[in-house]
Amino acid sequence: SPKPKGKYVLRICSSTPCHMAGSEDLLDYLKDRLEIQEGETSSDGFFTLELTSCLGVCSVAPAMMVNDKVYGNLNIKKLDQIINKCKRGKIETERLIGLRADILGNKEDRVVLENCGIINPESIEDYKLKGGYTALSKAIKEMTPQEVINEVKNSKLVGRGGAAFPTGLKWEFSFQTTKKPKYIICNADEGEPGTFKDRLLLENDPHKIVEAMVIAGYAIGAEYGYIYIRGEYNLSIDRMRQAINKARKRNYLGKNILGTKFSFDIEIREGAGAYICGDETALMESIEGKRGIPRSKPPYPPTSGLWGKPTVINNVETLANISSIILKGADWYNKIGFAESTGTKVFTLLGDVKNQGAVEVPLGTNLKDIIYNIGGGIKEDKKLKMVQLGGPSGSCLTATMIDISLDYKVLSQAGLTLGSGVILVLCVDRSIIDIVKNIARFFQHESCGKCTPCREGTRHIYEILDRISLGKGKTEDIEILKLLGENMKDTSFCPLGQSAPNLLLDSLRLFPEEYNNFLKE
Ligand code: SF4
Repeated sequence: SPKPKGKYVLRICSSTPCHMAGSEDLLDYLKDRLEIQEGETSSDGFFTLELTSCLGVCSVAPAMMVNDKVYGNLNIKKLDQIINKCKRGKIETERLIGLRADILGNKEDRVVLENCGIINPESIEDYKLKGGYTALSKAIKEMTPQEVINEVKNSKLVGRGGAAFPTGLKWEFSFQTTKKPKYIICNADEGEPGTFKDRLLLENDPHKIVEAMVIAGYAIGAEYGYIYIRGEYNLSIDRMRQAINKARKRNYLGKNILGTKFSFDIEIREGAGAYICGDETALMESIEGKRGIPRSKPPYPPTSGLWGKPTVINNVETLANISSIILKGADWYNKIGFAESTGTKVFTLLGDVKNQGAVEVPLGTNLKDIIYNIGGGIKEDKKLKMVQLGGPSGSCLTATMIDISLDYKVLSQAGLTLGSGVILVLCVDRSIIDIVKNIARFFQHESCGKCTPCREGTRHIYEILDRISLGKGKTEDIEILKLLGENMKDTSFCPLGQSAPNLLLDSLRLFPEEYNNFLKE
């Protein structure tokens, strides 16, 4: 920050679910009440007003952070209470809890969320009573590293962070490399607006992630692991820190784990608010203490990652599958899901749907069933207009496209992607341009600036959409938007820039009348 900030920094979440829930009205109210604009500090030095990207609490949108405390389900009355408490120096230490209510769907379907809301996440005993750390004991005492890798390979588990790369294969590439030392990284920099599945796991079942990281370390021959958690996830960081300390005391971490020759330890690294650090190479740059920007690939991390050493990076949800696969076996895992898409997936169901929250279902579950059976249908029984699948960089589906199986093969054949698992539902009353502009704003802010197509493209796209939404659009804007989007897809350096125009291009193709109406009016 080039200037000192106020005693209380109010950060209103501007991500799409909060935007849909009225966060801009709240921002306007705060501007009036505090007599400052966005980015300014009040004359008494008390308040600084800012916008922030997703806080990962989308099922209680609209949300805001006050210093490091998160508040959800906000309205004007609640804002007034918070401001008054700040002024009296009595800021609440409330943190968002009550996550049990956030998990929808059948308990029987749960694999990765099986303990969430059931065990006390601060108790290692609770985790052990649910069979915790027996998979680790089995892996390091009864299996060779190759056997552990084979079990994960045979399970057909693929990465749940969005890229869907086979996990066992990634581990094997690193295992086969003779370079030392090797590293395990858990990618907990969950920044995709609308996604909070990793936060649920970190806050509610942290030992599951510790156990999986140790097993992964044993499999590839690593002695050290990092968990990179986004800085806004204060409770996740606390819970993981506690879990690591408790696991160390019980010798599930540290030297000669459980009396074997295998040693492994974990360190937490906190992100500093950059979406790009969810990219594996930018994340490694950040751990190394550099600015988080992506590296060229190849070389790939399994052979040359952190400090040029073999490194396996797995997403939180991916790792949360490991202990069950080791304990129950690949054959058991293969029976869950559909064809080659084995296991479950945690989705975050949001927007204009009656029941919002996280839901874990077997891969292959029909999208329409999730929206209408688990989600209870559209609010006020309105008609569905669009579903955004996989987050802002994912895909766009119209109401006639939602009768589709959510498995990797079917989606890829339809040119769609699961992404991080967001299912954002929009009813007929929503303006597509408003949503596309909100997402364009996010990408122009989060572009790291390393390459021209993304740095310039995201900015121009946002400016043109802003102009159209203000009624100042020109007919040629449509062609310019298409050209910019297609150029970015073809020429951007990393997946952020390549996927940033997805929603724009989908919406231009599927909802051309929305743009034309705006231009005509
Ligand atoms: Fe950075 Fe965007 Fe280029 Fe990726 S595509 S390197 S985020 S400027």
